[in-house]
Amino acid sequence: MATMRCVVVREHGGFDKLRLEERPVPSPGPGEVRVRMLAVGLNHLDTWVRRGVPGHTFPLPLVTSSDGSGVIDALGPGVTNVREGDAVTVLPALSCGACEACQTGVDQLCRHYRILGEAADGTAAEFVCLPLANVAPKPAALTAAEAGSVGLVFQTAWNMLVRRAELRAGETVLVHAGLSGVGSAAVQIARVLGAQVIATAGGPAKCARVLELGAHHAIDHTSRDFVAEVRTLTGKAGVHVVFEHVGAATFDGSLKVLQRGGRLVTCGATTGGAVQLSLHALFFKSLSVLGSTMGSKGDLRAILRLFESGRFRPVLDRTLPLERAGEAHRLLEAREAMGKVVLTV
Ligand code: ZN
Repeated sequence: MATMRCVVVREHGGFDKLRLEERPVPSPGPGEVRVRMLAVGLNHLDTWVRRGVPGHTFPLPLVTSSDGSGVIDALGPGVTNVREGDAVTVLPALSCGACEACQTGVDQLCRHYRILGEAADGTAAEFVCLPLANVAPKPAALTAAEAGSVGLVFQTAWNMLVRRAELRAGETVLVHAGLSGVGSAAVQIARVLGAQVIATAGGPAKCARVLELGAHHAIDHTSRDFVAEVRTLTGKAGVHVVFEHVGAATFDGSLKVLQRGGRLVTCGATTGGAVQLSLHALFFKSLSVLGSTMGSKGDLRAILRLFESGRFRPVLDRTLPLERAGEAHRLLEAREAMGKVVLTV
């Protein structure tokens, strides 16, 4: 029986818990396609799956990673509208397809929603079988590594800014960590929507990069207080929307820089999830605090079209071979990467 390599977490812990294992090459079931993977994009989620999250149970052992791209190399029974050899991008979560959420285009709210590499076996393998619903044509303008790096973060940032915060042309948005995966997506989406973009970044080099990416202003959060800087930049008015994913370290300041009627939208809490919220500020300033996770498959298909037309650019730091997944995790955790880290298969 043919075997393949994959990156597996059997128990939580350090970089050595990422094991390169041999498994049988899977066969696609009814309605599934098999993708020969070429590139596997990493996200901070990968590092949480490896390290473990207190109070959360992951279904170990688990093949890691959510994003990727490759080529369809086998079709399961009943699959007719794609072909072997088609280049595809993986849509990074499974859903039932049959419930009200799925059928109204908010499949991320499906009760059976499972992110690849988090609640179901992921993409860090030589071959992956997926429902046909989970592959989209790879934008021809992107390399395999680029196409395999954008799905989760662009889908997440899009859902936050477009669906939840409803950011509009002419509004001002503060994007925290504008060169992080989800931040660099948010900067570009906000620009396409016609917003004024203020982004924070750590250090002069990252500030320069985030301006290249389309931010109108960059704040070096290692040397400047972002609350004071945003007040100066907006003539004390504050911003309409704050794009949050940092959590405890920034949340209080994020609320302070919102103008009346402002919206804070959050998808993460990398520095901690316990924050204080003044109800007085919330109601006197008519603020909205919005949670968001992932996004719909349909929106991601639309996003990929915007890559095809050149409106969005992938921000790639480097590629590493599959067997160096540990080093890729280290780069992410040390925040050394200026962009996405992608494993090549
Ligand atoms: Zn569903």
